[in-house]
Amino acid sequence: MTGLNTQKMHANVVVLGTDHVGKSALIVRFLTRRFIGEYGDIESLYSHSVVVDRREQTLNIWDAPYSQSQDMSYESLMCEKIVQWADGFVLVYSICDRASFNAVTRLIQTIKTSKDFLGFEKMPIVIVGNKRDLDHRRTVLSEEGRLLALSADCQFYEVSAAENYHSVLMVFHGLVNRIRESRVSVKKLAGIKGIVKSMSAVFARRRTDSL
Ligand code: GDP
Ligand code: MG
Repeated sequence: MTGLNTQKMHANVVVLGTDHVGKSALIVRFLTRRFIGEYGDIESLYSHSVVVDRREQTLNIWDAPYSQSQDMSYESLMCEKIVQWADGFVLVYSICDRASFNAVTRLIQTIKTSKDFLGFEKMPIVIVGNKRDLDHRRTVLSEEGRLLALSADCQFYEVSAAENYHSVLMVFHGLVNRIRESRVSVKKLAGIKGIVKSMSAVFARRRTDSL
């Protein structure tokens, strides 16, 4: 393909949120452009290539199950495992389900405390308020989602997996950009750490020289 940057990149993405918020619908929409209505609750790992800003990116997308048993054990145990695996997070709630929004708030905290985001200019997290088509049943205001994203330094989209492909595409493109930015800032930090290390080595040598 002409004009395509040949540098291929890989990233692990996990889609998290409580049951029935539309995680599977969102992923299937992104992968196939279709909405099929019922998805069951099979845990799946997909691999999908996208071109963002003329660069190809392979995404491993994990449709993680939400344990119905205990909120807390899920969020601490599952998250530990998932968080270490993932380079980017899509946190989904339903605009008709206040509890699912609260769960996203808690997930952000868990991710922030489990993952070393030191040096990341922007968190590779996208918050998604799904089921926008059900506005008449809305219990979470757009402003609340936007505010949460602002306070946690994440991106925010309200979408309808049922009615709109484009907004779902924006979610994943937005996340890819965030992951790329975070990698750049981590490299920058590693560079600074390297400089500090070599400088302190020089000073340490000088000190011993002068002894
Ligand atoms: P998951 O448990 O988070 O994976 O949720 P699913 O993807 O299985 O979706 C749960 C239910 O919500 C299914 O009946 C979907 O058809 C429905 N659903 C998903 N997204 C939307 C949406 O954007 N609008 C509406 N009206 N229903 C949706
Ligand atoms: Mg599902």
